[in-house]
Amino acid sequence: MDANGRVLQELVAGLASGDISVVDLTQPLGPDTPVIDLPAIFASSPGFSRKTISRYDEKGPAWYWNAISFGEHTGTHFDAPIHWVTGKDLPNNALDTIPARKLVGPACVVDVTRESAENEDYLLTRAGIEAWEKKHGRVPAGSWVLLRTDWSKRKDAAGFLNVREDGPHNPGFHKDCLEFLAHERDVLGVGVETVGTDAGQAATFDPPFPAHAIMQGSGRFGLASLCNLDRLPSTGAVVIASPLKLVEGSGSPVRVLALTTA
Ligand code: MN
Repeated sequence: MDANGRVLQELVAGLASGDISVVDLTQPLGPDTPVIDLPAIFASSPGFSRKTISRYDEKGPAWYWNAISFGEHTGTHFDAPIHWVTGKDLPNNALDTIPARKLVGPACVVDVTRESAENEDYLLTRAGIEAWEKKHGRVPAGSWVLLRTDWSKRKDAAGFLNVREDGPHNPGFHKDCLEFLAHERDVLGVGVETVGTDAGQAATFDPPFPAHAIMQGSGRFGLASLCNLDRLPSTGAVVIASPLKLVEGSGSPVRVLALTTA
């Protein structure tokens, strides 16, 4: 066996011994999964629903299965470049054409729990990423930048969506941070614990919804409604985020796993 083969052998041994653990960054997907709230002038995305086809009964005596239905962007999910108008003409921009190689990458976890607790509209800036890099090193090309806010610990839908008269409030990214990550760090994309990759008030930003506009517009991805980011080290984890291979899919629920030795 060559050296490359040994790397995989060591991975398998590490998983077996528990030296490498698999952290599930995925929220359960079901009828109670909260769905993003858009202004009433726009079409809304249906949440998860399920109809039983059979359950060991006269419709199927030995088998259980369901028919399921949901918007592509429901629960823990993946945003493809084609999701946003800025990414609509890019090559390989849909779930069925994104190269599989791009579904695996290292994670940089930026902990802004304190800032988010003090200010639910907190935005991570370019300066915030540069401060992170001083401690943890440069954000590698091809990595996920995951924003740890502990927002996933808000277990009731109302607190999670946090909608007030002037719209939703949750932390996110400043435009200058997104442009830096896209164009000067060449990241795979950004991931968040909130319902979408943009801050709650991002409809009012310039450009509106900058996380979507800039990330999807530059061929990058998004991960929303992640959890368990508090179980990851700042660097060193490897994320596997592999959405359904939907033809011309703009996104899909995804089981996001992280391999870590921490
Ligand atoms: Mn989405």
